[in-house]
Amino acid sequence: MTGCYTEGRMPLIGLDAAELASLLGPSQPAYRAKQLYQALYRDRAASFEAITTLPLPLRTELAVQHEFGLPTIEKRYDSVDGTRRYLLALGDDRTVEAVFMPEEDRDTLCISSQVGCPVNCQFCLTALLGLDRNLTAGEIIAQVLLLAREHRLDPRSRQLNVVMMGQGEPLLNLPNVVKASRILLDPNGVGLFERRLTISTSGITPKLAELGAEAVRPKLAISLNASSETQRRELMPITKKYHLRVLIDACRAYPLRPWEHLTFEYVLLKGVNDTDADAQRVVKLLGQLRCKVNLIALNPGPGIAFETPDPARVAAFREIVHRKIPCFVRKPRGLDIYAACGQLKLVSIDNATPTTQEPHGTSDADRRPAGHHQPAAHGRTAV
Ligand code: SAH
Ligand code: SF4
Repeated sequence: MTGCYTEGRMPLIGLDAAELASLLGPSQPAYRAKQLYQALYRDRAASFEAITTLPLPLRTELAVQHEFGLPTIEKRYDSVDGTRRYLLALGDDRTVEAVFMPEEDRDTLCISSQVGCPVNCQFCLTALLGLDRNLTAGEIIAQVLLLAREHRLDPRSRQLNVVMMGQGEPLLNLPNVVKASRILLDPNGVGLFERRLTISTSGITPKLAELGAEAVRPKLAISLNASSETQRRELMPITKKYHLRVLIDACRAYPLRPWEHLTFEYVLLKGVNDTDADAQRVVKLLGQLRCKVNLIALNPGPGIAFETPDPARVAAFREIVHRKIPCFVRKPRGLDIYAACGQLKLVSIDNATPTTQEPHGTSDADRRPAGHHQPAAHGRTAV
């Protein structure tokens, strides 16, 4: 397996305009850095050759010393519902996952912020990986650029939603997440509409204020997943360090922009956190916040010791919360290919598309549902 970066060549994706200017040096006029920045992010140039705004000698020189730094697609899994999960090889041959989810009126890309995740949520497959390393700003941006290219998407169209809900805890990689967000949201950069980029956190409380102080930042979703301090400690042991009560206080203090609300995600686990009493406690906890609630019925997986509640229970829970707070049930996407929330753990299944094939191919073979899957390398006991 080979990663994406040729040895010795420094990737350009991830550098901001000032960094590109210092890379080009004082011999180049200042506008060259801007041209290069726009070519990389706004125009999403396919090669150095294609950056025709730059003089040929400069393009040639850049190509000798640098590369763009897009990951390579190692595997691709196609769901019956149109979702595609990508296993992407980074420059150091580590891999990370990103997911494309088409919908009628918009498309969503789910990208990762870390290789693995250090937060040990008991219902999440990614947790079994542990943390390998943080992604660089470039590796975060490159996931968007690559999937946009694969699916011929226009990030500037307002029809594209990007959520950092793949592998990793974004607030534990805040500097890189913030830098990536600035370039993703910059109209001269990738140009995502500001309401179309969201990060999701397990609640690293001290980092909420840091994120809130950023002038350019994504929207914020918080994975609540429990209705009481004790319950959350069991399901999300990080609550022992960052208490639920303090997290809710930090949410109350979070500086929402006039158009913005917080989103709380709540994974429903059968017989654990899905009772009417849980729903009532959620209303009490969040009642004073400008927010909405997204319910996710557990996506199962090897090593997850919980069950998915029946649809009727999910509906009843939603009904109680929705009386006071806008509350929606999130439709699972790509369940058959382990692409749904909390399932990103390099699970191999048998419908991987060889990546040597034409990238936009949608043959019948691509579309067949998954058969068996390999169990997780190590399991975990129920809490
Ligand atoms: N680490 C961040 C973002 C990635 S997880 C976070 O926890 O918020 C993205 C979402 O998937 C979170 O809301 C998480 O609670 C949810 N999730 C994790 N495991 C899940 C599972 N097995 N089924 C459904 N949702 C899950
Ligand atoms: Fe990490 Fe999020 Fe999974 Fe928790 S739910 S282990 S924070 S990826």
